[in-house]
Parts: sequence; C-alpha cells; structure tokens
Amino acid sequence: MSRYKDLTGRVFGRLIVQSLAFIKHQRPSWLCLCSCGNKKTATAANLLQGYVRSCGCLNRDVRRERFTTHNMSKHSAYRSWEAMIDRCTNVRNKDYPAYGGRGIAVHFPWFDPRVFCTYMGEKPQGCSVGRIDNDAGYFPGNVEWQTPKQQGANKRNNVCPGGLAARARKLHMAETTLRKRYPR
Ligand SMILES: [Zn+2]
Repeated sequence: MSRYKDLTGRVFGRLIVQSLAFIKHQRPSWLCLCSCGNKKTATAANLLQGYVRSCGCLNRDVRRERFTTHNMSKHSAYRSWEAMIDRCTNVRNKDYPAYGGRGIAVHFPWFDPRVFCTYMGEKPQGCSVGRIDNDAGYFPGNVEWQTPKQQGANKRNNVCPGGLAARARKLHMAETTLRKRYPR
C-alpha cells in the first residue's frame, strides 16, 4: 500500500476518492464518489492524467449543453465533428491509438462544433473528414471531405517516419502560421 500514492480525499473533476478498490498488475484502482451520487472505480493513472473526471455524467452534460446552446447537432457535419473529437481525445475510443494516441491533435478552436462545422460546410453524401497530410492533425488547411476511396488510399500510406515529435511539430508550425495570418 505504501508503494502507491494515497489518493484518498483527492478531487478529480466531479470525483472524490474514497478508498483503494483493488490493485491489478501493480496498478491501483480507486473507488470514487461522483458529485451526481454515482460510484466510479478508476485507475490512479487515469485520474492523475485527467482522463476520468466523472462517472460519465460530465460528458453527458457537456453533450447536452452543446446541444441546447448551439443546436449544432442538426448540421450535417456534426456527427463527423463528434467522431473526430472522440477518436482524438477519448482514450476509450477503439480508434484512439491511431489518432490521439499517436499525437493526432485537433486545432483548438475546433473543439467548438460551430467553428468546425462553419469551416467544413455541409457534408457531401458518403464522405467523411480526411486529412491531406495523414501524419498531421486536424487543422485548417489539412482537412477536407473525402470519399471512402480517398480514405482507403490514405490508410495504405499510413506511415509516420518522424514519429510523434514530427507530427507535433507539424501541428505547431501550422498553428504558428495561422496565428501570424490571423492575429488576435
Ligand atoms: Zn456522475
């Protein structure tokens, strides 16, 4: 027990840690109480890295808030936006390792569906959001509506010679260029 950091009483988002639940493969999991009243067990790593911040009610509330304040869910690009954010930020998404997990990031203003949908425009039938440079992230200039055929071609060339750092640099460069072009 003393080998593990005691998280009892710590607060992570809506969760407050109550007690050690179990230790599996030397990774401690903690029993937490969510502010909504539900219980949630999470690994220390997930808590400390901010991946788990509620029993699940936080995401639900965020989604509902988006729905009511923006009413963007009716936009034809909305589902694509939702899927993009999820595969890049949700460690539990099955596609996360190929996206967020390998450094594919989302241009920060695009976390607002209004900004993304306005940029992309209406989604052509059967198309999905593709990246022109498959090793770089989702940012203006690197995304377009692609047909399934284009998407398939991209996947075959899915090599990342520079690794994570190169992709991060590319995104950073793009962001820097944008900031110069559109200073706030
Ligand atoms: Zn909750």
